[in-house]
Amino acid sequence: MEIRFEKREQLKEKPDQSNLGFGKYITDYMFICDWSKDQGWHDARIVPEGPIEMDPACMVLHYAQETFEGLKAYRTKEGKIQLFRPEMNAKRMIRSNERLCMPGFPVEDFVEAVKAIVEVEKDWVPSEPDTSLYIRPYMFATESALGVHMASSYKFMIICSPVGAYYASGLDPVKIMVEDELVRAVAGGTGFTKCGGNYAGSIAGQVKAEKLGYEQVLWLDGNERRYVEEVGSMNIMFKIDGEIWTAPTEGTVLPGVTRDSMLHILKDWGYTVREERLAIDDLMRFAHEGKLEEVFGTGTAAVISPVGELRYKDDVVVINDNKTGELTQKLYDTLTGIQWGKIADDYNWTVEVC
Ligand SMILES: *Cc1c(COP(=O)(O)O)cnc(C)c1O
Repeated sequence: MEIRFEKREQLKEKPDQSNLGFGKYITDYMFICDWSKDQGWHDARIVPEGPIEMDPACMVLHYAQETFEGLKAYRTKEGKIQLFRPEMNAKRMIRSNERLCMPGFPVEDFVEAVKAIVEVEKDWVPSEPDTSLYIRPYMFATESALGVHMASSYKFMIICSPVGAYYASGLDPVKIMVEDELVRAVAGGTGFTKCGGNYAGSIAGQVKAEKLGYEQVLWLDGNERRYVEEVGSMNIMFKIDGEIWTAPTEGTVLPGVTRDSMLHILKDWGYTVREERLAIDDLMRFAHEGKLEEVFGTGTAAVISPVGELRYKDDVVVINDNKTGELTQKLYDTLTGIQWGKIADDYNWTVEVC
């Protein structure tokens, strides 16, 4: 793939690394590649970041043909910059796009584009502990037409944002509400894809949870509202009587890169991992019997998010005294250790950019 580069006259001022937050600052450049029925993918370019023009009839604005990805670039203590399993994001995007009848961006080109934009923006990759450069690839329909059909043109873009330490001072357990009415995904739907539409439909649950003083929503399956699936933008794992349970990724659950990495590590540590459906009633019962030892969410943004409290209808349980569990902490230290190059990457998961 040939990538054209268009230089920016004036670079933006870089933000203070100690107060980056998440997604507040966007870097100087963006990657764009166009697709049309006649030409396929063409005109890959890295250009100054800024507004793009859209026709009011642009199909994504009406029918939401949009998919996205999220990964990070990490600066090691030697000053090198590396990615974590970028091919998994590339492959997942192709699966998302297939479901939404959008063209696939080839895996090698995806990884090449991510490396290219990160290299251009290398000065934006922060160096403070636990900071990183969040990378957001996304694709959307650009054809101007009213009428539902597979669009005849698309844009694939990548923007980047330096992000801060997710936790200001150590892992901080979150409170989670189990949503028993609204659903996020149903069998045969788009639950396994990373598409904007899934999120649009989930905001109402998030608002409901926040009103009750909870930070996140745990979604149940869409057919029976009985089996635990995932949390907002994270997969979720339970340590019950020494064994690890997590929902299988069969159609309704997003196959997280963090989830997959944690399962590899857990199996290597000798844990029994049960990728099985788990009913919410059983989960609450385990909690009351004192068998629910740890609960944690997994995702690229936070890596791991300990859960200190679960509420299902009027039943509230506190997990591990509302403290971060030993296994949760150990998983966090191990995975972030690999990502920031602090410990050996025996799995060959990291990919050097520069
Ligand atoms: C992105 C995402 C995850 C986590 O995936 P990672 O690849 O680990 O970042 C989990 N659930 C949903 C719904 C997501 O969109």
